[in-house]
Amino acid sequence: MIRITGSLVLGLALLVSAAYGGTPPTGKYKVILDKMTALQAQYPQYSSLFSIGQNDEGTDIIAMRISITPQIVDAKKVGHMVVATHHGNEGACPPFTAYFAEQMLKRFASTELFRGILTETEWTIIPVLNVTGYNSNNRYEYGRDPNRDYPGPCNSQPGGNLKSIKAFIEFAKTRVYTGSLTVHGYVGALTYPWGVDADNLHTQDHNAFDQMTKKAAEINGYRFGTSTDVVYPADNTYEDYAYWKHGMWSLLLEMASGSQSDIEKTSLATMAFFDQLDSSPSLKNQFTGHCHRGTNKRADLHLE
Ligand SMILES: [Zn+2]
Repeated sequence: MIRITGSLVLGLALLVSAAYGGTPPTGKYKVILDKMTALQAQYPQYSSLFSIGQNDEGTDIIAMRISITPQIVDAKKVGHMVVATHHGNEGACPPFTAYFAEQMLKRFASTELFRGILTETEWTIIPVLNVTGYNSNNRYEYGRDPNRDYPGPCNSQPGGNLKSIKAFIEFAKTRVYTGSLTVHGYVGALTYPWGVDADNLHTQDHNAFDQMTKKAAEINGYRFGTSTDVVYPADNTYEDYAYWKHGMWSLLLEMASGSQSDIEKTSLATMAFFDQLDSSPSLKNQFTGHCHRGTNKRADLHLE
């Protein structure tokens, strides 16, 4: 057993910031990257850290890849995505995501690996997408809502006005992803597309989404359903984009309180969602409804 000392962790963290050419991470973002770096040092066989690109400040947005071949992208593996902290004021999102990564690494390092399912998966885990918002406890990034900066079924714009979102949109094209989890707070809900303001909120995968999410929600007691019904309608969000553009089985997590027990139960619940997925993205992800285009007064309250 290798013990990781504080100074070793610090040294590794400095190495990480030196390894990417961008503006060095500061504040709370540096703290969460230090945690991810310590995890990587603890599980080097199953994890690597890399940058998906830089934000408007020139800071690298760091992701962890977890697989049995973590130094390379292996398109033959089933790709899963976890992307957190579009909203910088939802402070429990990075700790949730670091905890999820740690629990996944423990699964890789356990006898579960020999049962074979995990060896066929490749996880990309991004703890903080809105770095400037997280460091300043602000929902927005440079005055924009990052989770309204995507193309989608009710929007003809290309999105990606923010460099962080542009970097993510480009990154999401680099391999096929089957499952997706995005992390927010604080509603206490697990929801799935559609989340837009439209006349028909059922995707052609509604029954599959409903059954998988119901089973996951049994673990943490959250409400579940379409994002529009359970949270509120919003256009141009990541969670709809992931499904609409790439067919990812897209789960929107709205944590309840973000307490440690909430994080632990919800990590199990969201892993149960992924564990139910087939190996391929949906091919029935076309939007068939009609957008209300902002006429619904309930639309987009910008709370969560
Ligand atoms: Zn949010």
